[in-house]
Amino acid sequence: MIVLVINAGSSSLKYQLLDTTTKKVYAKGNCERIGIDGSFIGHEENDGSKQKLEVALPDHKTAIKHVFDILAEAGFDTDKIEGIGHRVVQGGWYFPESKVVTDETLGWVREVAPLAPLHNYAEADVIEICREMFPSIGNVIVADTSFHYNMPEKAWRYALPRDVVDKLHIRKYGAHGTSHRYIWKTTSEFLNGDVHKLVSCHLGSGASLSAIEDGHDMDTTMGLTPLDGLIMGTRCGTIDPATVCYLQRVGGYSVDEVDTMMNKQSGLLAVSGVSSDSRDIEAGAHNGDANCQMALDMFYYRTSQLIAEMAQSMHGFDTMVFTAGIGENSAEMRLGVAKELEWLGVKIDEKANEVRSDEPRVISTDDSKVKVLVVPTNEELMIALDVEALLG
Ligand code: ADP
Repeated sequence: MIVLVINAGSSSLKYQLLDTTTKKVYAKGNCERIGIDGSFIGHEENDGSKQKLEVALPDHKTAIKHVFDILAEAGFDTDKIEGIGHRVVQGGWYFPESKVVTDETLGWVREVAPLAPLHNYAEADVIEICREMFPSIGNVIVADTSFHYNMPEKAWRYALPRDVVDKLHIRKYGAHGTSHRYIWKTTSEFLNGDVHKLVSCHLGSGASLSAIEDGHDMDTTMGLTPLDGLIMGTRCGTIDPATVCYLQRVGGYSVDEVDTMMNKQSGLLAVSGVSSDSRDIEAGAHNGDANCQMALDMFYYRTSQLIAEMAQSMHGFDTMVFTAGIGENSAEMRLGVAKELEWLGVKIDEKANEVRSDEPRVISTDDSKVKVLVVPTNEELMIALDVEALLG
């Protein structure tokens, strides 16, 4: 099935056109700065050719129109697109699994939008535009929270007053669910089913862990929002929640300032004082920058601590997978995290860890108690497979 996958943000729109049978990606790209001066589309085809088109993108509708035009100009028969898969950041309590777009399901995306206002409203608008522009193509909603929805109540419930959490729908929703689901599927295929308790480590600029037992999510590190859990590129991860009150009451920061501080000015960027990008931080640490070294030390410490927490939620783990930008590319950071877990029997084969590849691979030694792998994630393929399952 030929599927177009769309990942819309408030000022961006990523797209990928792919075939679910051959898994071939025909083209992909990103419309950036939608509604802002200097908008452009970065477009890439499967022969590696790339182009940057500087076009006015006053709104998402114009961006989608351009995407279809670019695909047509590149020789793709857009009439062959059989389904559109939409990544939705927050599915709330309505999407324990992916769903076909109808008036009702689209309404749900908007109803839960206060939980993720920067994303859900734009995503709902884009879904509506696609329905209007291409009425013969089916649309599917794939929420990033779905995979986590059925975790045990003791894992998702917050110990706040029941009337408050009920009224405001406060609970652990998690994120990166599509990636964690893909990691389970790919790892169990790669290991011929010999995996039961897996800790999936999605370490990118946003980062989260998922405890997966026989395909079911048992716990995850992100919470009501993607701010919780690990130290990330610019997000602080878990801190004492009273810090939020203290920053406002004593520090004099407004709600929005605290929100921006914790989401955009914290994490690896804040500790290193250099960059949110792990490559710059590794380089800084090699050059003797103590703050960069501290950023790495804190990342290894917190990530390994939370991996142990995820393992505890399953009373053990037999497999651990690294994925996403850092997890797939940084041998140094994989080793740093894994070394902290040696006491649990995690042993990395340092040569295997250095191998670069786009394929799933084992990087632990034969006598490691826990099998450690690197598995490149592919959220777009997972979304497209859901589209095929629901519309094919
Ligand atoms: P996201 O999808 O959350 O934006 P990614 O999964 O693409 O993030 O991860 C991006 C991060 O991965 C970068 O900020 C960087 O810290 C890290 N990284 C490390 N090595 C590489 C590499 N060789 N290529 C890309 N990203 C890398």
